[in-house]
Amino acid sequence: MTRRRQIYEGKAKILYEGPEPGTIIQYFKDDATAFNAQKKGTISGKGVLNNRISEHLFTLLATIGIPTHFIRRLNMREQLVRQVEIVPIEVVVRNVVAGSLAKRFGLEEGTALPRTILEYYYKDDALGDPLITDEHIAAFGWASQEEMHDIADMAIRVNDFMAGLFAGVGIRLVDFKLEFGRLFDGDFSRIILADEISPDGCRLWDMKTNEKLDKDRFRRDLGGEVEAYQEVARRLGLVPEGDDSAVLDLEEHRKTRGK
Ligand code: C5P
Repeated sequence: MTRRRQIYEGKAKILYEGPEPGTIIQYFKDDATAFNAQKKGTISGKGVLNNRISEHLFTLLATIGIPTHFIRRLNMREQLVRQVEIVPIEVVVRNVVAGSLAKRFGLEEGTALPRTILEYYYKDDALGDPLITDEHIAAFGWASQEEMHDIADMAIRVNDFMAGLFAGVGIRLVDFKLEFGRLFDGDFSRIILADEISPDGCRLWDMKTNEKLDKDRFRRDLGGEVEAYQEVARRLGLVPEGDDSAVLDLEEHRKTRGK
């Protein structure tokens, strides 16, 4: 294996220089963190599942006209993406009360919201990703008004599409986080969807049982994290019905055999 230049190591991914200028390789780790990295752990097999789930969702989003950084999946843990300048804003889309929204306003988790709520957080681990408004974004120059218009517009389109997609497989899309980046073309740039979409950054509840199929299993010590992620992949049609573990073993087998 040739050595590659590592560009960045995040909590759940490593970024390497890609094969062509303007490309990057995203490597999905099994590491899991919560509460601004105060809680750390490993979910064995998570990276493989997130790589596959994110590939699937980004590919579908491209078909409805959402521009994304995704180019193609390279192997079990890696995907080739376009290099972008990440906008330092985490965009959270909420359909149902949960997590920090429930806490902040003393609301009961699971209550459907009368309308979708978009929230922005400043992406800064040292500050604990504080909640911000358009005013902060404009005053501190984190994104232009035009960029924020595109970001909000895309976030709503992604939500409409994904809420329907997940509902079709019996999953309630409670909330999720998106990140966007600037794709440069000379002096001009446009906003495209970046990062990943996976159970690490979404709340996904089984519609019948309300069982959590996402990272809250790790955050709340519920156990069964990998089984939950696997269930999401299975319902999205990414794992053949029946013997899920055997399929993962087979992929491992192919990797070690190089076929
Ligand atoms: O914790 P909170 O309720 O604000 O999270 C809202 C949604 O955003 C959840 O789906 C969570 O997984 C996601 N999120 C994330 N990364 C963060 C903060 C939140 O993926 N740093």
